[in-house]
Amino acid sequence: MGERDVSSDGDICCQVPMKLRLLLVIILLANPFAAAASADEVRFGACLSVLRGEAAGKGIPPATFDALTRTLTPDMSVLEFLDYQPEFRTPIWDYLASLVDEERVADGLARQQKWAAPLAQAVQRYQVDPETVIAIWGVESNYGHNFGKRPLLTSLGTLSCFGRRQGYFRGEFFSTLKILASGDIAPERLVGSWAGAFGHTQFMPSTFLRLAVDGDGDGKRDLIDSVPDALASTAHFLRKAGWRQGEPWGYEVILPAGFDSSLSGRRNKRPLSFWLSRGIQRADRQPIAAAESAAALLLPAGPRGPAFLVFANFDAIYGYNAAESYALAIALLADRLKGGKGLQTAWPTDDPGLSRQERRELQTLLAARGYPIGEIDGMIGANSRQAIEAEQKRLAWPVNGRPGQKLLLQLRSAAASKN
Ligand code: CA
Repeated sequence: MGERDVSSDGDICCQVPMKLRLLLVIILLANPFAAAASADEVRFGACLSVLRGEAAGKGIPPATFDALTRTLTPDMSVLEFLDYQPEFRTPIWDYLASLVDEERVADGLARQQKWAAPLAQAVQRYQVDPETVIAIWGVESNYGHNFGKRPLLTSLGTLSCFGRRQGYFRGEFFSTLKILASGDIAPERLVGSWAGAFGHTQFMPSTFLRLAVDGDGDGKRDLIDSVPDALASTAHFLRKAGWRQGEPWGYEVILPAGFDSSLSGRRNKRPLSFWLSRGIQRADRQPIAAAESAAALLLPAGPRGPAFLVFANFDAIYGYNAAESYALAIALLADRLKGGKGLQTAWPTDDPGLSRQERRELQTLLAARGYPIGEIDGMIGANSRQAIEAEQKRLAWPVNGRPGQKLLLQLRSAAASKN
């Protein structure tokens, strides 16, 4: 869960009263140690004073605010992430290749078995689909492996005072203060993504306040150290997002020849009968069950790629993280967890994406060629990307730093012929 509910932004610089700014200058001049504070830290301190006043109006007493923010310093590195969204920049087939891979299916099945009792309880209580809950867990944190390591107050405090979305992040900052004041989660445990999503299913702080529930009955809502709490809270989210128990999220479908693809689009909802009358069929040739909710047609890679007919439950998943590629990843992973075989239609590319296992293999091959890859973790970071670009250049291929099947096959066969 990351980027959504964008509200108005403000620039804190213009909201610091002149008196306060003068005061800060005087403090700086009077205190020789304060001279070591960077300009950013000075701005941050002034901003926190403003937030302190705003917090009081949101039910956070100044004493609580002071106690929780006393040692806070800004982390300017979070600002680099503000404009980067992998969901929107990565080709859909690359995005899905790493999120819906064999490992995540196998891990999901194992987790589903291990946590069967609390999962059943959550599903019963909120009337949602168990595989969709597990899939969200798998995509959000790789089943608890990747929580993010950034202290929430630091990230959200910084984003509340710098950058282009301060209004939105201030709301999350105040929510974080409330979570800490409630005692549900200890401050040192509250770490997460750069944007403040945290725990097994990466709730934003405001979502936590609204929807987190106590799944294991210990009296606390804890998405970091309690899997049952995380599963129940995610089930609760889906319920509130309008999940319709018994309905599918949708199906992969086949379009008849000459289909008018201008009818596609998640918001272009029509009764199921509309689509059936135009000759749309399920890709696995099973009959499409009657559904009460209206359906939309998605063509995430255009008319030559896989097509999907999606119902209200797809929108419920979309509510978790407002990106169609994200919702599709959850839906397709859930289908695989139910025993589905995966997509019938290939993505329209001659260079498909890599699973995480294949990404690790690519990294290993690049490291063997002398590139400084660092940890072989399947995450294509700056080092891996540079190495890929260098190899693409050497091969006189288009240089884009993208990890694809073609390069993997090339390096694999080159390594094999060396041995
Ligand atoms: Ca609990």
